[in-house]
Amino acid sequence: MTDGKNQVYIPERVLVIVAHPDDIEFGMAGTIAKWVRGGAQARYILCTSGQVGIKDPNLTLEEAATIREEEQLAAAQAVGVDEVVYLRYQDGILENTLALRKQLVREIRRFRPEVLITLDPTAVFVGENYINHPDHRAAGGAALDAVFPAAGMPALFKELEAEGLTAHETRKVYVSSWQHANTFVDITETIDLKIAALRQHKSQMGDWDPTDRIKGWAAERAKGLEAQYIESFRVITLRTDEEWARCKGHVLPGDCPEPESEAEALTGSSR
Ligand SMILES: [Zn+2]
Repeated sequence: MTDGKNQVYIPERVLVIVAHPDDIEFGMAGTIAKWVRGGAQARYILCTSGQVGIKDPNLTLEEAATIREEEQLAAAQAVGVDEVVYLRYQDGILENTLALRKQLVREIRRFRPEVLITLDPTAVFVGENYINHPDHRAAGGAALDAVFPAAGMPALFKELEAEGLTAHETRKVYVSSWQHANTFVDITETIDLKIAALRQHKSQMGDWDPTDRIKGWAAERAKGLEAQYIESFRVITLRTDEEWARCKGHVLPGDCPEPESEAEALTGSSR
């Protein structure tokens, strides 16, 4: 069965936090495309602009960053996402610092996502030919440390209230993962959009057509499942269905009524 217990789960708001341009397209763009088609609003947060990822000695880092940011925006638009935020940390040496955690808490409190998607900070060795990029681990670690518990603690980073940003607890966290997956999203209907998005990263793709590689990976993950192509995730549920229905991401008592008071409201009592 795909999509966990929810047959076709479509969150309202999705915040995606990764290290570099093209991380989203390799990891989760099929799922995002599916959710956006279903009515979700999505925003991407890029910790770096991937500026050391272009092997051209004639380009400055600033020029490379501009190219990669433009490619990332085109890739986002290919799956119906218009909001891309660049934090512009130095590519290649990203660290999971308190400064980054606070920035991500700010972004979470600003966008108030139902679902946060990020990378797996525990993935070091993948298969037999790949060591996971330290920036991926740093971005994933910082995103997880920001979403829980920091973003939902009103007394932590309280100064963000001056920006109108209050504590927010996200409903579910989707960590892109093969090894630790517990949720499998059927992307059969959006894999072509995923590939079209990936192809926007022209500085990385060159003349290479990623279609066979991407379909091969997605089919490999679908083995034994009732789907042709899959993206897989470790999903952590931070708020129950009941809590989310009652409070969304609000944590303060004034914003999140106790179950009793809602029962009163339903029976017509004034509040
Ligand atoms: Zn990357």
